[in-house]
Amino acid sequence: MQLDNQTALITGAGRGIGQGIALALAQAGANIVAADVDLAIAEETSEKVKALGRKSAAIEVDVTQADSIEAMVNEAESRVGPLDIAVNNAGVISIMGVDKLDAEKWDSLMAVNARGVFLCTQAEINVMRPRRFGRVINVSSICGKVGLPDLSHYCASKFAVVGFSNAVAKEVADEGITVNALCPGIVGTGMWRGEHGLAHAWREEGESEEDSWARHQATFLPQGVAQTPEDMGGLAVYLASAEHVTGQAIAVDGGFSL
Ligand code: NAD
Repeated sequence: MQLDNQTALITGAGRGIGQGIALALAQAGANIVAADVDLAIAEETSEKVKALGRKSAAIEVDVTQADSIEAMVNEAESRVGPLDIAVNNAGVISIMGVDKLDAEKWDSLMAVNARGVFLCTQAEINVMRPRRFGRVINVSSICGKVGLPDLSHYCASKFAVVGFSNAVAKEVADEGITVNALCPGIVGTGMWRGEHGLAHAWREEGESEEDSWARHQATFLPQGVAQTPEDMGGLAVYLASAEHVTGQAIAVDGGFSL
């Protein structure tokens, strides 16, 4: 197996894209630390990993808190093994025009999506550096490549992830550590589906959520269909294996960014 005996830590691993990436890395041979602010769902992912025959632990973390991240990395290494791969995937979204956006909303979203990625990357690199090996994958978005209305704060946080990953990649390039950003396009997780999702929020007059979901796929995606958590897992496995790919922001977006 490509990633046999390696340890991978994934934040926001309890559902959606994080779970898809955790399972893909496990299928490629890695042992998995599933971290999430919601421990119960992290445990569900962990059980799915164990069913694939890999070692796994579930850990509660709040990526906005440096001490919680420090504890997560220590616990990950003591329960599963020295960290080889880290996927900083935890993220949140909210939908609001810039005229309505306030500093509190801006700060709370940035705290998870941008500061969380910074703090996690820093703690992970601290343990990877002495061993001169590491693969850091920071989950950005198509919104880290193009702006979308009503998502200015979210886009700012995802552009930040791309810039941060690019800069850190240069800092650690000669230490055996790669740092890349993974940019999903449209994936039917809680971010798009359900009453808090974008498909619901962006319905036209009289349109059902299902029809809005179909319309957005047709409008935004040259390929016409949404991507899946498994698609993101495929790129994560590649980036975890690739020795000479670093500082990149790679989209898995069905052509959204073209
Ligand atoms: P999701 O809401 O299904 O999953 C997000 C996970 O992050 C949840 O398990 C949640 O509990 C966890 N989380 C939230 N705040 C946290 C915190 N403070 N500490 C630790 N964990 C926390 O969403 P998803 O669609 O799977 O999104 C995963 C990542 O992909 C996010 O960074 C998101 O911005 C990005 N993304 C998603 C899409 C999409 O279409 N779904 C597109 C582009 C980028």
